[in-house]
Amino acid sequence: MVLTRDNPRLSTSKRGKRTLKIRQRRLSRKNIGSANRNKEAQKVARLHKKHADKRTAYQWLIASKIIRKADAISVENLNIKGMKARCKPKPDDVKQGRFLKNGQSAKRGLNRSISDASWGTLIEKIQYAAAKSGKSFFKVDPKNTSRTCSKCGVIDALSRFGEKFVCTSCGHEAHADKQAALNVKTRAIKNNQLIIKKIKKVRRDSAELKQLTLFETPTVELTSVKRKQHRAHSSKRDVPGNPPTQLSLWDIGDLA
Ligand SMILES: [Zn+2]
Repeated sequence: MVLTRDNPRLSTSKRGKRTLKIRQRRLSRKNIGSANRNKEAQKVARLHKKHADKRTAYQWLIASKIIRKADAISVENLNIKGMKARCKPKPDDVKQGRFLKNGQSAKRGLNRSISDASWGTLIEKIQYAAAKSGKSFFKVDPKNTSRTCSKCGVIDALSRFGEKFVCTSCGHEAHADKQAALNVKTRAIKNNQLIIKKIKKVRRDSAELKQLTLFETPTVELTSVKRKQHRAHSSKRDVPGNPPTQLSLWDIGDLA
């Protein structure tokens, strides 16, 4: 799937970082307890809020795009907290009480990028949107997804060079992320024993029933009468095929 816009990188882009730095510097130079300091503090807070709002809007856009295109969604069950863990301190054996470089300063930048992309909340939104439109959502074990060849299944760390993937066993060539995504899909199909049906292409004006789902999982599809009733006592938002139950982000745990 081709998405129109890349991850906006609001607070880790050069511009975003610069703006935040300037605002924070202005704040730090005001006298503690003064009215001007409060004003500057509000400006910093507003910038953070702006970034958060933009991030949320972008994530809803992406989530709805994914849901519209897919019949079922599978994601890697990432341990984001573990990925952001600090590097272990390396004590210096020669000088007591001193520490050697452990790479934490480089890791910090990566951690900030992870936080800026906020995968966790994006996955929550996708899950919510999937539940709302009655589509299936799966989480799979992320182990070796980017090292496994989607063609022959051989696991080799050497197959991957940054963005490129060339299988050391069969020579299969692909974009590293795309072919990792294929592995996530295959894993979801295997773990949940999904049966893929062929989509029957039917013209829009045909009397034949259109095959809606790729997978044999029950989906909620309202009939036209039910939809009318539903529309009568629901809010202004009109989502076709929307199940009549009101969902909240916090209900997701029960659904999954
Ligand atoms: Zn291969």
